[in-house]
Amino acid sequence: MEITENILLIREQIADCCTRIQRAADSVRLVAVSKVKPAAMVEEAFLAGQTIFGESYVQEFCEKAALVKQPVEWHFIGHLQSNKVKYLSGLVSLIHSVDRLSLAREIDRQWGKVGKTANVLIQVNLGEEASKSGTTSQELVSLVRQIAQLKHVRIKGLMALPPWLEEPEEVRPYFRELRELAQEIEALQLPGVEMQELSMGMSHDFAVAIEEGATLVRIGTAIFGERQR
Ligand SMILES: *Cc1c(COP(=O)(O)O)cnc(C)c1O
Repeated sequence: MEITENILLIREQIADCCTRIQRAADSVRLVAVSKVKPAAMVEEAFLAGQTIFGESYVQEFCEKAALVKQPVEWHFIGHLQSNKVKYLSGLVSLIHSVDRLSLAREIDRQWGKVGKTANVLIQVNLGEEASKSGTTSQELVSLVRQIAQLKHVRIKGLMALPPWLEEPEEVRPYFRELRELAQEIEALQLPGVEMQELSMGMSHDFAVAIEEGATLVRIGTAIFGERQR
């Protein structure tokens, strides 16, 4: 029951935030990050009306997806190795974490095999942290141009996992930078590239992310509790 309450509370907070800044409430979608949490928790969240779930580890995700009987929508949000892409085609509706051409090429190949087009976000490593995936903001435009050439890949926006800072307000400049990068790319009007999604904001800083234009907030801990790893 706690999961249900958490979801209702977060939805309320998202709605309040949207009202405050005069954004339509349905312009922000909640991605419930269920990595390392059991299928039963996903099912419980689904019963509370949650439809989109974010996962980070391919093998763990595939095992879980096989257990979940409800028609949930899966997003992949974690670092992705090219040799594991084949397990995701047909299973996930959005990959948030594309950060290099070789990965995009493999996604193109695997989605092409099943006759589909993959929707992806380009992950930007705004803090240029060595421990995190993501292209740099300097390389972003050239990467987008190259990925846009791929037949079975459609770029839908950008994603960032900014440095974890105690005070959410301190993360604001990163969220703003991601929005500005999206606007720069939008202005280029590249065929096959849309900047409709900004995936940013987690449990402790999603309100600030929404104020800066997030359309997808990825929330784990505040819904499912602390993780062991
Ligand atoms: C785990 C994870 C989240 C969720 O973080 P919480 O702080 O638990 O809300 C969001 N985004 C990514 C990319 C993650 O790996």
